Amino acid sequence: MDTEDISGIAQRLDGIRKSLPGNVTLVAVSKTHPVEFIQAAYDAGQRIFGENKVQEMVAKHEVLPKDIEWHFIGHVQRNKIRQMASFVSTIQGIDSFAALEETNRQAERFGRTITCLLQIHIATEESKFGFFPEECSDMLAEGNWRTLSHVRIGGVMGMASNTDNGQQVLTEFRRLVAFFNSTKERFFSESNDFRTISAGMSGDYRTAIQAGSNMVRIGTGIFGIRDYTIQQTLSDNTSI
Ligand SMILES: *Cc1c(COP(=O)(O)O)cnc(C)c1O
Repeated sequence: MDTEDISGIAQRLDGIRKSLPGNVTLVAVSKTHPVEFIQAAYDAGQRIFGENKVQEMVAKHEVLPKDIEWHFIGHVQRNKIRQMASFVSTIQGIDSFAALEETNRQAERFGRTITCLLQIHIATEESKFGFFPEECSDMLAEGNWRTLSHVRIGGVMGMASNTDNGQQVLTEFRRLVAFFNSTKERFFSESNDFRTISAGMSGDYRTAIQAGSNMVRIGTGIFGIRDYTIQQTLSDNTSI
């Protein structure tokens, strides 16, 4: 581990926190980084961490303080939900009714309620996961989600295109915020649960906040550059 990286974590975290408006929640994205990095951010007061691989998150959860709020932030494979259902706080990558249903089923086994954010496809890029807005509205209009008592639909999540075109990124984030507003009005006007707009990463979180985001997911800006080989070499029984 690079000790220079770890010594800068508290300071970078502090700088980002100070730059965020009071209504914006920070998810520290710790994927690929060792538990020592997470502990350093924890010691600096951070409690919400985001991971995008289930096994990696499970291994980290096992050894780190139990008051950490874990957010799963990537595309979620349905067969992996059971592995994290006993502790995950929020699943940010829900992009089908089936994923919502499976989360509900697994949460019920533990007598828990898991917050789910609906991932909405806002980028012009092909490769991103997520509901298309109409598809998500259709799912909500259909109404079966109302019977799922172990999930709480907490809002939306979106990722903008990876581009230097700031205007395009702003337009995409605004699309997400507009979708959130209309969805809230149409389906959740009676509920306080539907309140989160998770948008913005290290490179574009200021733009996301400008558009109306109230949850940012920042990795590189806190922990430094990632080395993905750790995820490629991880197997079921590997601890981190
Ligand atoms: C990795 C990741 C982030 C953080 O990206 P950075 O550019 O390192 O801040 C945010 N959201 C999702 C869904 C991610 O997978």
